[in-house]
Amino acid sequence: MRIKHSLLILFMMPVLLPALFALLINYWSLYSLRAQHEQASNQERQEVALLTEAARLSEELAAVQRRVASTLEAADRKRLSEAQLYRIHSEVVDQLAQLNRRVLVLAESSAVREVGLEDALALPEHTRLYGNFVIMATDIAAIDPSTAVRYIGDAQQHFIAFSEHAHRISARLANRMVQHNAVAERAFSSFFMQVLLLGLAGMAGAVLLAVLSSRKLGRHMGEVADALWELSHARDVAPELPKIERMHNGSGSEFRDMAAAVLDFRSALIGRKQAEHQAYQLAFYDPLTQLPNRRLLIERLAQAFTLSERTHYHGAILLLDLDNFKTINETKGHEIGDQLLMEVARRIAGCVRAGDTVVRLGGDEFVVLLETLSAKADSTAAQVEMVAENIRTALIQPCVLNDSIYHTTPSIGVAIFKGAQYSVEELLKSADIAMYQAKDAGRNTIRFYDPEMQSAIQARADLESELRRALEDREFQLYYQVQVDGQGRPLGVEALLRWQHPKRGMVSPGEFIPLAEETGLIVPIGLWVLERACEQLSSWQQNGPMRDLVLAVNVSARQFRQSDFVTRVARALQESGAKPSHLKLELTESVVLENIEETIAKMRELKLLGVSFSMDDFGTGYSSLQYLKQLPLDQIKIDQSFVRDITSDTNDAAIVQTIIAMSVALGLNVIAEGVETEAQREFLDKHGCHAFQGYLFSMPLPLEQFEALVHQ
Ligand code: C2E
Ligand code: MG
Ligand code: MG
Repeated sequence: MRIKHSLLILFMMPVLLPALFALLINYWSLYSLRAQHEQASNQERQEVALLTEAARLSEELAAVQRRVASTLEAADRKRLSEAQLYRIHSEVVDQLAQLNRRVLVLAESSAVREVGLEDALALPEHTRLYGNFVIMATDIAAIDPSTAVRYIGDAQQHFIAFSEHAHRISARLANRMVQHNAVAERAFSSFFMQVLLLGLAGMAGAVLLAVLSSRKLGRHMGEVADALWELSHARDVAPELPKIERMHNGSGSEFRDMAAAVLDFRSALIGRKQAEHQAYQLAFYDPLTQLPNRRLLIERLAQAFTLSERTHYHGAILLLDLDNFKTINETKGHEIGDQLLMEVARRIAGCVRAGDTVVRLGGDEFVVLLETLSAKADSTAAQVEMVAENIRTALIQPCVLNDSIYHTTPSIGVAIFKGAQYSVEELLKSADIAMYQAKDAGRNTIRFYDPEMQSAIQARADLESELRRALEDREFQLYYQVQVDGQGRPLGVEALLRWQHPKRGMVSPGEFIPLAEETGLIVPIGLWVLERACEQLSSWQQNGPMRDLVLAVNVSARQFRQSDFVTRVARALQESGAKPSHLKLELTESVVLENIEETIAKMRELKLLGVSFSMDDFGTGYSSLQYLKQLPLDQIKIDQSFVRDITSDTNDAAIVQTIIAMSVALGLNVIAEGVETEAQREFLDKHGCHAFQGYLFSMPLPLEQFEALVHQ
């Protein structure tokens, strides 16, 4: 924001005001001083002129007196002719007339009259009389010198009187001048004092004004600073700013602009906070019920574990599922379903403490997280039981929606935790298992998760982390189980994975393959198997008895679904140098059913390489002729569960017979796995299955033993 003029002036006020004031005072005092001085000096000049005139007149009169006296004396001694006397007489008459005029002017001047009216009036009078006697004396001098001398004596009397009056006037004028000087001096001092006082008062005023204006400025600045502080520290809502609003409505354009800027900032902040809130709401809350969602639950659970670890208090989660929600939703419509869910959310929230978390997981599943319950397990269980029962009771109350009454019941599974002993997923899983137990127990029930189950879950988690390590530590190994024909001659071999665990010993694939499937670890493990098998195949192809064996490798669904599966197989074959015609991939029905189009495409690609396919565990899935027809299979492997009771169970016998017939019809060869007895072998052989795998011939064996077996 640009600093405007008035704000600038406000800032300069403390400097400008005293400076301006000092200038004014200076000007005014100098001006007054000059006027006073002019007046005084005029007066003085006038008085000096009068003084001088008075002195001059006295002198000139004295000169006339002296001249007349010497003239008379010369006349007396007859040294002057009558003509000379007459000339002097007329000169004296002129001189006296002139003096008379000047004396009149002097006597009429106001200053002279002021100092002494009597003297002023006497001056012209004596001058006139003096003149008269002098004129008479010079007039008569030629005729009667003695009378002339008498007249001169009279004239002298008047000259003396004139001089006295003139002297008195001079003295008084001089005195008056002194007085005037003193008055002027006094006036100057008092003026000086006035100026000084006025200056001080002005300064004080200016300082006061400056203080007031800077206070005003300071106050507004302070208010703006406070407002900005409040805005920057505002957590959820933007604060009200009444002072800034007052400033905005008040006077002073800068302050109005400043206040407007702060208010703009505030509204921008509100806008941003609303956007943030919306984004947060979308990410962490369920839009229908406004309850926290799964993501927020996971965060809160992690925090709850940490808190529980610190306080050693138990916490619990309740997983709720509405028993008949699906039916209501499907028969009454989604609108009713939504309303019901909102009502359920309200009721659950009404049953828990303020700090507890109620979450909608999705669909009709809700989770309640209860924290800091008790340090003891039994009292924790009692507390949770109570809350769960309250919720159950609240939810079974009839619910009126759009004038119809709906009834719903919950199944509630509870899992208790202390510290961070389980992962979030494990705990949710436990609650889920408990919830399903509640459903199994007839719904509208509460079930606690069984700790034994919990420890099984723990064991699974341990297994998973060990499985991750096993591949790096080379704990996997391949065993080989022979496949034979009707005469007991080796036809092929199946590679079976073994895990040589350093502590547990040999772990069966039945235990770890499903887990590896779930976690995705099957992909690297399966690749290892494939590469190992191809290397083995290639090395067998060098020497005699093993040369023609076809090696079957099991492929899991997840592994097969990898987009680069075909390339992986091709590369394993190429790098090992194994003949593709001797590699057989065993797929299960789950692989095939997943995405039939894609499966067929991949199988075709691999078949082009020369690889063959066997359908493992056939009969256990949902196999139908329909899709079997479409698949580019080479072999069907009858599952061992049918073989086991083939001689005693007529159903199994019938199924096996059907499978064999089907294979013949489709032009596929067939093999039976799990053949343990001669009776089973005979039955299969009699009904058209001439390839076998099972303990009757050999167990799965480590490499050397298997090779030794084939050599026999
Ligand atoms: P499968 O492919 O059906 O393998 C046959 C299973 O039957 C093997 O169990 C084998 O030891 C067992 N067996 C063989 N003859 C008999 C018999 O006469 N009687 C009985 N009761 N069982 C017999 P195993 O080795 O425990 O493997 C179990 C399953 O694990 C396999 O079933 C296969 O689905 C999976 N598997 C094994 N190795 C791999 C592998 O490398 N990759 C994948 N994806 N799965 C594998
Ligand atoms: Mg198999
Ligand atoms: Mg099998």
